[in-house]
Amino acid sequence: MNIILLGAPGAGKGTQAEKICERLSIPTISTGNIIREALKSGTEMGLKAKSFMDAGQLVPDEVVIGIIKERLANDDCKNGFILDGFPRTIPQAEALDNMGVVIDKVIDIEVPDERIIGRMSGRRVCESCGASYHLEYKKPEVDGVCNACAGALVQRKDDHPDTVKARLDVYHKETEPLKEYYAKQNKLAIVEGQEEIADTTALVFAQLEA
Ligand code: AMP
Repeated sequence: MNIILLGAPGAGKGTQAEKICERLSIPTISTGNIIREALKSGTEMGLKAKSFMDAGQLVPDEVVIGIIKERLANDDCKNGFILDGFPRTIPQAEALDNMGVVIDKVIDIEVPDERIIGRMSGRRVCESCGASYHLEYKKPEVDGVCNACAGALVQRKDDHPDTVKARLDVYHKETEPLKEYYAKQNKLAIVEGQEEIADTTALVFAQLEA
């Protein structure tokens, strides 16, 4: 099954992607994580993306389209994949269609902006493996330490409140029109993000099985 997770930054796409990945044994492809990895390794692409990312702006379409094209060609995507954070613009969605990639379902996780701003301030990520935690909703077993790889948990620069506002503005302007794009293709399913992660997961699975 080829799945797209849509939703504002901080709506919980990454967490739901992990749950789907466990249940369906298909990889999650997060353009944000791939770019952060590239930045850490100091590649040209990473350095080019840094200023956009730090400002909460989108990295140019051709860069992320290139990343996705390369990633989807990997063998592990043959039985399906979850796209988390791609596409984020209409040209990116069109590029996916033009590559001949058939998407089965687009799950849009809806969370009001005010709740997102509150949530993002508590988000922490592992600086080694990228796993995501929350000081309130998804605590690590040991404070400040990743359950999976024992890496240090840090706050992303772009999770600071001013940048979050900029990212939400970008989301409403550039990414939200994708809802209509996929509704027209009869692929859109909307899930209201719940307080409890498990409750959102149940709604997501119900949509995948529908
Ligand atoms: P994320 O972790 O998905 O919130 O992505 C973090 C940042 O990476 C975004 O704010 C953008 O600067 C960049 N990014 C990730 N995915 C995309 C995309 N599909 N298009 C453009 N920029 C992206």
